[in-house]
Amino acid sequence: MLEFLTSMPRAVSTKSIKKKSSGTDLAGDYDILKMPAPETPPQLTRLRIGIHTSTSGGVEKSIERAYRLGCNTLQIFSSSPRMWRASSPEVWQCAEVSRLRELYGIKPLVIHTSYLVNMCSKTPEFLDKSIVAFRGEVQRGIALGAQYLVLHPGSFSGGTREEGLRCAVESISKAVDGIDLEACGFRILIENTAGAEYSLGGSFEQVAELLARLRPLVPVGACIDTCHTHVSGYDVVSEEGLKETLAQLDKTIKLKNVFVWHCNDAKADRSSKLDRHEHIGRGKIGLEPFRRLLNDSRFEKTAFIAETPIDEPGDDLRNVEALKALVQ
Ligand SMILES: [Zn+2]
Ligand SMILES: [Zn+2]
Repeated sequence: MLEFLTSMPRAVSTKSIKKKSSGTDLAGDYDILKMPAPETPPQLTRLRIGIHTSTSGGVEKSIERAYRLGCNTLQIFSSSPRMWRASSPEVWQCAEVSRLRELYGIKPLVIHTSYLVNMCSKTPEFLDKSIVAFRGEVQRGIALGAQYLVLHPGSFSGGTREEGLRCAVESISKAVDGIDLEACGFRILIENTAGAEYSLGGSFEQVAELLARLRPLVPVGACIDTCHTHVSGYDVVSEEGLKETLAQLDKTIKLKNVFVWHCNDAKADRSSKLDRHEHIGRGKIGLEPFRRLLNDSRFEKTAFIAETPIDEPGDDLRNVEALKALVQ
């Protein structure tokens, strides 16, 4: 996720980039909302397929964008992912999000935590800020009627992995203190990471361990990213490899705990630990693994969400369509 956003300005550096009031994840002036509205509802598949969608102009705008992109699920940031300060959505905006989701049948709504948040930081000031910010993420998520909040478990640079694990659990527990997530149908999803040194969650075992420790405290689950899985060293490319990787996933995290798949192709090689998202089918993973994943009956209820770059106008639509075209 981190790279997905930081790479965008670079990817479109030759074009003019206009900073919008909220949400900075559009390429240049391109915005699906500026295109003519579709005359007939976009074709959907039997699966839940969506993409990380811009909230530019207001959080409620993301739902209309997702609909026009042909999605029946989506992921958003609930505030600027690069700023600590976050404003709460207005009551009317939350109502509008619900109304449009109902109208278009869009679910689940997934929120991705700001990437400033590090729940196992060794710097006390940074950790405190992260806990406050994460509490805000949970509160905004619930206000918006979202189902899932995706969190990268953090970086324990300067400490040990065990300290990092313990700190992440303690920080998450502090952040949600007094909030009944279960009553709100709201769940925190821990995302597997690209496996960089000092980052928690670079293997299924680590995510599983964090989930086991969090489970008594808060509703949790996993978000598995195809790019992160690939670059952290798992084989998702060959048919046998993917089968084995999914078997490992089931042995550790368990498939029933995977509520979201982040569908991203990878620019970098397997085991490179480089988090560089690529358009579906155009990277080192290729189309076939996505076809296998999408048509695996064990993931019929899982949401598939792309976090692919927008290098050219229409890339968001093309990536959603690439995924949908694979559904049999
Ligand atoms: Zn990523
Ligand atoms: Zn991701």
